[in-house]
Amino acid sequence: MFETEPKEPLTFIKLGSLREKDLLKTARQAYDGILVTASMIESFGSSVPSFIRGLDKPFIIDPMVYAFVQPITHMMAAKDSKIKRSLIEISVRYGSIVQREIGKRPISCQDFQSNPGNVEELTKNVLNYQLERLKRPPSFADYYSEFELLLPQVEPEVLIPPYFYFKDTQDPWYSVSLEFAKQALNVKEQGWKIFPVILMPPQLLEKQQEIEAIVGDYISDNYDGFFIWVNDFKEEDASVKQLQGLIKLVAMLAGSRKPVLKLYGGYFSALLWHADLTGFSFGLGYGSSKNVFAYGGTRGAPNPLYYMPELHRLLSLPKAEDLIRRYPGLMCNCPTCKTVIGVNPANFSRMKDSNRTAQHFLNVRLREIGDLSKANIASISTGLEKSVQNFDQKLLSGINIDNLLKWNRALLEVKVPIAVA
Ligand SMILES: [Zn+2]
Repeated sequence: MFETEPKEPLTFIKLGSLREKDLLKTARQAYDGILVTASMIESFGSSVPSFIRGLDKPFIIDPMVYAFVQPITHMMAAKDSKIKRSLIEISVRYGSIVQREIGKRPISCQDFQSNPGNVEELTKNVLNYQLERLKRPPSFADYYSEFELLLPQVEPEVLIPPYFYFKDTQDPWYSVSLEFAKQALNVKEQGWKIFPVILMPPQLLEKQQEIEAIVGDYISDNYDGFFIWVNDFKEEDASVKQLQGLIKLVAMLAGSRKPVLKLYGGYFSALLWHADLTGFSFGLGYGSSKNVFAYGGTRGAPNPLYYMPELHRLLSLPKAEDLIRRYPGLMCNCPTCKTVIGVNPANFSRMKDSNRTAQHFLNVRLREIGDLSKANIASISTGLEKSVQNFDQKLLSGINIDNLLKWNRALLEVKVPIAVA
């Protein structure tokens, strides 16, 4: 999928729950690929692997090695304070120091700095896991030989070396992450694409020198592309300085002429297409940001949120309904909303079905992607300004739309630098 230049931002849906299976099958034209975490794969037996095989779309596996360096209490299930079964499953598959120490202590940077053997062993196992985990098991063919054999054998689109959260470039986890990325290049075989993940806090985006140091370190090796994950980064709440830092980071990495993808993003990430971002991932309504220290915490179905096209953000259903009653022009005309709500705001409560809000969200996201990739910065800017002018702050009942102006300022003011490899 990275062989030719895409004409629109590539979109990866982060599989958030097995409840999304049917929608992801029927709406398979609305996205380019699937992002699935190792924890999601190991939580549900064979369900996730067989779903992904059957879906026949490109996919990427987040190996989540970062989970094993966190305090032990973060690794425990709330219900019985035991280490989560999915993490134990993953640790068995990764072997090495992860398997030896799980439940006893978190992995530390010294484990890797003092013992390069750990880095080598873990890199190989983690890459191998991604390559092999979703393949058809050999015994499968005996039972389902009729049609399973007709399906192609699956491999992830790219491979992600172990990566960890770092506070800044002085943080030992920064050099350890870089070491793992380099090790992945050492063991790389023909046909593999190695995409390291740069996982950093939003505050670091405000520091020009740090951005330059990170880009310098990552583009000096021959990776096949990059993922950026700004931890717990809420585009709606970000400062202009942070947004501009993100634009610089993306544009400088893209200066190496390698694909740059962002993990977890919303509309602003889509707009980064115009700063040479190749694509981004998001969940069906909930995954426009992610905190690395809060994985797997949700239990049961969360209340569905409604994506408000004009504001390019999610709102609770009551807030969205309230806003549509004040501004009937905001009524969405996507096929889902036309069928479920029609022209009568009183029908809005019928959206209280997560499949409907997710389907609406996918319809709107697909349209947003199409619109913005045909537009230029100037026309996008005018659009954002118009959206804001259409609202009377007093009638917004606490919904802050300043983010639209901040996004606009960030896009207009930033001078996109060219990275020198
Ligand atoms: Zn809609």
